[in-house]
Amino acid sequence: MTIPVLERIGELSALLDAKRAAGATVGLVPTMGALHPGHATLIARAAEECDVVCVTVFVNPLQFGPNEDFEAYPRDLDADVRTATDAGATMVFAPPVTEMYPGDQSTTVHVSGLTNVLDGLARPGHFDGVATVVAKLFAMAGRCHAYFGEKDFQQLAVVRRMAADLSFPVEIVGCPTARDHDEVALSSRNAYLNAEERAAAPVLIRALRAGAELLARGESDPARVRRAMVEIVAAEALATCDQAEVVDPRTLRTPDTLEGEVVLLVAARIGPARLIDNMRASTS
Ligand code: AMP
Repeated sequence: MTIPVLERIGELSALLDAKRAAGATVGLVPTMGALHPGHATLIARAAEECDVVCVTVFVNPLQFGPNEDFEAYPRDLDADVRTATDAGATMVFAPPVTEMYPGDQSTTVHVSGLTNVLDGLARPGHFDGVATVVAKLFAMAGRCHAYFGEKDFQQLAVVRRMAADLSFPVEIVGCPTARDHDEVALSSRNAYLNAEERAAAPVLIRALRAGAELLARGESDPARVRRAMVEIVAAEALATCDQAEVVDPRTLRTPDTLEGEVVLLVAARIGPARLIDNMRASTS
């Protein structure tokens, strides 16, 4: 089966408008391509819940810093179309950069508060890039359900706030993190790792588990929980800890004392990759 691969904004909007006019519900799955089984879980969920599923494949230059991996980011549209089709997509939208940013854009979407913490500090401008491209995709797609992974916890929070604040007719659906056999979160950036580096990647989930266990034993001091996670990552020779945080899931800020539901987040550099993971946890 071949599904349509659209490159033009006008074609996408017209096709989705026609589907909705015929009574169909629309699911949107924004991605940067290099689709793996983690993306496939989002697409399959969208296919379960919506009549039409549009997977967008766009490596968004706006969300990469000057020294980040925009050029090196893996791109294989044919493989992505196959993965999307197999997972239940109805169409792929893969616009060229010139279609998304024709060169005269002066508007950037900035979500304050949620973006000046965590990855927002480590990657200045990153979430402005994310919020801007997602807002554009929502404007093009129209009324829909949009599926995002909890793996990118802060991104999901930013997108939810942006969609609510700008009154997009879009229902945001958060989907659980899909993991490999050793519980490493599936990520397009895992492809950057050699075998030895890949074998070191479970250090992220081990660090998160150590933090969650401390909380379950009644620890309420965020510094101790952070330290426990940092120590686990530091014990892995191939990993450098970039971030180990415990935050309130609504504000993304670290409370003075941990109480109730929190989210643990870890970012680590392993070889050429910066990997992230997170886990919900609660104090006992
Ligand atoms: P990306 O292509 O990395 O920008 O990811 C596109 C979407 O897929 C985002 O909403 C991600 O959070 C989601 N995603 C990526 N990896 C996973 C995973 N392992 N499990 C669930 N969702 C994921």
